[in-house]
Amino acid sequence: MAKIFCIANQKGGVGKTTTAVNLAAGLAKVGQRVLMVDLDPQGNATMGSGVDKRKLELTVYDVLLESASIAEARVKSEKLVQGGCSYDILGANRELSGAEVELVDVQRREKRLKQALAEVEQDYDFILIDCPPSLSMLTLNGLCSAHGVIVPMQCEYFALEGLTDLVNTIKQVHANLNKELAIIGLLRVMFDARITLQQQVSEQLKSHFGNKVFNTVIPRNVRLAEAPSYGLPGVVFDPSSKGAQAFVAFAQEMVERIEKI
Ligand code: ADP
Ligand code: MG
Repeated sequence: MAKIFCIANQKGGVGKTTTAVNLAAGLAKVGQRVLMVDLDPQGNATMGSGVDKRKLELTVYDVLLESASIAEARVKSEKLVQGGCSYDILGANRELSGAEVELVDVQRREKRLKQALAEVEQDYDFILIDCPPSLSMLTLNGLCSAHGVIVPMQCEYFALEGLTDLVNTIKQVHANLNKELAIIGLLRVMFDARITLQQQVSEQLKSHFGNKVFNTVIPRNVRLAEAPSYGLPGVVFDPSSKGAQAFVAFAQEMVERIEKI
């Protein structure tokens, strides 16, 4: 059965999508079967996996509205297959921003994704959900589906403060909707060891959250930022780059961690 993880942080631009696509590619590289669910109407994880969001016939939107199953809506990316790190993609585009309103009157609307994933769980080792930068109904669907949350964060001054809302939301979902949900870990991303403040915040994180902080650190690396414009995760675009190597190491760390969960 697949282990299901949300990549979440209510802040935008913190590295969620970069983590989702590169962890997916890294896991594929170490032999895991992976489904990546794009739950953000911006569709960046879809595009960054080499799938044109404008050409998709079925997306996660159709799955949430129960007009398609995941088996019908998931796609493969030719580019990823060629790159030798292929994972399945349940894509998203702007249509998804309407789901919030359309689901308002629906019973158990926060469980729609969970129900749909149950039908394909046996096909995968990992299912990764790239969440939008909000604590909306979409993110709630992600949190209700998952065994755990991976929180990418930059080691900046307000990093800890920003975590409070997310941690409270996760606690509430845990108490009321999904008993399995836990924070799997905090992932330090866009890290620059030359910046003293980043080292200090990183130490604070470790003393505050202990082993909830992943050992792997993702460095700031321009190849990771360039890769999406080629429709590829950095892990596929430039496997020898520091950023790609860090994400493959992170994939290995995840495989080891879930054996202990
Ligand atoms: P989010 O999904 O949280 O909004 P993104 O993953 O889209 O964040 O990242 C925001 C921006 O930062 C993007 O332009 C991305 O390419 C860039 N970026 C993310 N991680 C790194 C990194 N480790 N090094 C350099 N640039 C990065
Ligand atoms: Mg994103």
